[in-house]
Amino acid sequence: MRLLEQQNFKNERAVIRVDFNVPLNEELKVTDKTRIQTAKPTIEYILSQGGSCVLLSHLGRPDGRDPKLSLAHIVSEVSSILGVDVNFCNQVVGDQALAQTASLKPGEVLLMENLRYHKEETKGDEVFAQQLARLGTVYVNDAFGTAHRAHASTTIMAKYFEGKKCFGSLLESEVNAIEKVLKDGESPVVAILGGAKVSSKITIIESLLDKVDHLIIGGGMVYTFTKAQGGTVGNSICEPDYCDYALELLEKAKAKGVEIHLPVDVIAGDDFSNDANQKIFESNNIADGWEGLDAGPKSCEIFRELILKCKTILWNGPLGVFEFPNFAQGTISIGESIGEATKLGAFSLVGGGDSVAAVKQFGLAPRMSYISTGGGAMLESLEGKILPGIAALNE
Ligand code: AMP
Repeated sequence: MRLLEQQNFKNERAVIRVDFNVPLNEELKVTDKTRIQTAKPTIEYILSQGGSCVLLSHLGRPDGRDPKLSLAHIVSEVSSILGVDVNFCNQVVGDQALAQTASLKPGEVLLMENLRYHKEETKGDEVFAQQLARLGTVYVNDAFGTAHRAHASTTIMAKYFEGKKCFGSLLESEVNAIEKVLKDGESPVVAILGGAKVSSKITIIESLLDKVDHLIIGGGMVYTFTKAQGGTVGNSICEPDYCDYALELLEKAKAKGVEIHLPVDVIAGDDFSNDANQKIFESNNIADGWEGLDAGPKSCEIFRELILKCKTILWNGPLGVFEFPNFAQGTISIGESIGEATKLGAFSLVGGGDSVAAVKQFGLAPRMSYISTGGGAMLESLEGKILPGIAALNE
């Protein structure tokens, strides 16, 4: 892994793939600045070394040149977060883009227009990648959120920078955090997997069985397991087609010495809504007309005791329908237990869409060791895949 500090930036023009795919409101103002803030250390470092920066990003999924998705809307936010004047180029490639990038002086920053105005970007088009490569003299990838895509700017253009490409510091931290859990994790290692469906987590579960000592399964996945074991699940979300697979998994885990922990009790609702009536059931004995929507209090206590014994913790996926405040307690409780364990010295990584949203929403973020910025990229890393964006930097 070639790091930022191993690359010379003096009088170089660094073309940096950042992930500025930020949410905008109706007035086209940025509503969550995290992605810009997390790119700041890399940009600051390059400027401090006497380089200039050309920033490349996508924003949303435009169909052609959709003015609502122009990166022009975020220029002032980027300037204010970086504390430097950022100029904008309303092209990604072309004469204007070449002229504006070529005239950059050390210390200057230029944000290019939305990469995805060009369909060639997501296609990983060779010619487009070559055009992008002409925008800078050094290539830096700091966009973990798109590192699992073999797009022109995230992967293909890297080959034009032999000996002059490196990881940005965000990408480096993400890779280190994943390795700290999956490769060098101090035992006991626990993974907590929640979310809606077993079918979408199969590859992750399989891959984790080789890496963890304990696996806590929560959320809607629970009911496929309990049904497979002969339990009754009422109206709970369940994938009967995956029951055999669930049993197989339990066997595999046993053979590999991994302890699987399912909730012993659940909080069920008589409707899929926040205002549903609530009742606690044993997780394998849910009455007709009720559906399990959250982990129960006994389960949360058992999970807490286990988590507090662990030195390495990975969390992906909520333990219940946390979007309903009345069914969020299991997710909050797991987050609090992880926070407690982290305070006692464990390393905790939270990654993948909804669990990240949950820790932020419930104010638990500062209590975790590391929160991943990449949804899909994190999930694919947990599946054990080598991300194309990362492979391209190491070639
Ligand atoms: P995933 O994208 O697979 O991680 O799933 C996240 C979603 O799972 C969230 O929107 C949760 O509301 C949902 N979820 C968690 N527990 C349950 C449950 N018991 N029943 C239905 N949906 C659930």
